[in-house]
Amino acid sequence: MPEAASSNGRTHVGILGGGITGLAAAFYLLRAGVQVTVVEARPQLGGLATYFDFGPFHWDKYYHCVLTSDRPLQTLIEDLGLSEELRWRETKVGFYAKSGLYSVSSSLEFLRFPLLSLWEKFRFGLGIIYASRIPDGRDLEKVSVTEWLTRIFGKGCYQKMWAPLLKCKLGSCREEASAAFIWATIARLYSTRDRDAGQKERLGYVRGGYRAVFTRLIEEIERMGGKLVTGVPVERIESRPDGGIDFVTANGPMSFDRAVVTSPSHVASALVPELSREYVNKLNAVKYLGIVCTVLVLKRSLTPFYVTNLTTDDVPFTGVIEMTNLISLEETGGRHLIYLPKYIAPGDPLFQASDEEVWSLFQKHLSKMFPDLQESDIERKFIFREKLVQPLPVMHYSDIVPPMETGVPNLLLANTTQIINSTLNNNEMVKIARQAVDRILKNAAQGAAIGARS
Ligand SMILES: Cc1cc2nc3c(=O)[nH]c(=O)nc-3n(C[C@H](O)[C@H](O)[C@H](O)COP(=O)(O)OP(=O)(O)OC[C@H]3O[C@@H](n4cnc5c(N)ncnc54)[C@H](O)[C@@H]3O)c2cc1C
Repeated sequence: MPEAASSNGRTHVGILGGGITGLAAAFYLLRAGVQVTVVEARPQLGGLATYFDFGPFHWDKYYHCVLTSDRPLQTLIEDLGLSEELRWRETKVGFYAKSGLYSVSSSLEFLRFPLLSLWEKFRFGLGIIYASRIPDGRDLEKVSVTEWLTRIFGKGCYQKMWAPLLKCKLGSCREEASAAFIWATIARLYSTRDRDAGQKERLGYVRGGYRAVFTRLIEEIERMGGKLVTGVPVERIESRPDGGIDFVTANGPMSFDRAVVTSPSHVASALVPELSREYVNKLNAVKYLGIVCTVLVLKRSLTPFYVTNLTTDDVPFTGVIEMTNLISLEETGGRHLIYLPKYIAPGDPLFQASDEEVWSLFQKHLSKMFPDLQESDIERKFIFREKLVQPLPVMHYSDIVPPMETGVPNLLLANTTQIINSTLNNNEMVKIARQAVDRILKNAAQGAAIGARS
């Protein structure tokens, strides 16, 4: 039987996607008295921020941290009654160079960092301060990342630090990126530095990880009468003559008054035949980077750092994230949790490689970096893959961003491509989810259709 729109007279909103965006939107819509159904293709909710059973413990499938500056995310945590579970820790940052592993976690350590000359360090410090004071990065979309970094930080710094970092982070796509990408990364990381404590970094996490956040979100959504449908991919989205929206699924149609799509743009463009050519072109213009991520559960620690950046460009992963240098070992039953991400284009042959092939490539370089790491230190290993993760911040990115209004009445898009002036993160997605909620509530109050552009 089709799901009914507006049963009991309340506006019924369908949300495609049960990641943080879809669930945060559902939570705030329900709090405002709107009826909500979330439809998620995968059996487990959480999307890219979901959790995983690593054996002795559960933790985030991919690494996540909370920044002190993440206001909308912290408000959500507070609204879920989880503020008491938020833990803050001083974390260390490492740099791996051919000559070894260095801590660059305070101003003093930066001064001792051997990779750059004193003059290069001075320019680097000035460059970071300058970048962190730019309030809006949109003008930087007109400049290529290479040109801007060389101009602001100097050739030496660019060649020794930024070029290998960019290669690690963006691979072959780095030539296409604009300066806004690196500006946003600097601004976000700088915002979490404690100026009163020698520029030390302070990061946070919720006890129990995103599993605790999603568990509470699910409880709250269900308590307020929201419906969560998992393991059901939406195959098509159609508008009805009465202005409502239908999700077509293998289980039959689901009818709503309004709907929000939170999937990646490339998925959205194939789902809605009524979208205008202009809108579809915008959806398809965004290029995504995917990720192949090896996760290791170790009996010992690898480094003292949360993130180790790589300044050699021959390593097949983007960095080393030692989660247990942020979270307490109580979370992992005393095990050490390491993520080795590799950001690549969705068409990269690494996506076709077997787990064994990926591991053998990563292991070769990991053993070079950490010669004392023994096979017996590795308790478990996992390889995860996602093709549509990070929208590539190309030149003039704002011009290709699809607006929330899709042009189809009562159908909104709220996804990661709409992050402008920041990096991919949950804080931005909660902000975008709340913008979609505000639009629905405002239009519902005025009795107007949403989604149609004039
Ligand atoms: C390696 C990595 C590290 C990260 N680190 C951080 C960090 O430190 N801090 C931070 O804040 N953020 C971090 N992020 C980013 C964060 O995970 C994302 O911002 C966030 O998960 C995006 O959520 P979303 O709901 O917008 O999208 P998604 O999580 O992609 O959710 C979209 C959902 O739509 C579903 N879907 C797609 N198609 C259909 C369909 N046809 N029918 C039904 N459902 C469908 C998908 O299955 C998915 O569950 C990281 C991400 C990765 C991958």
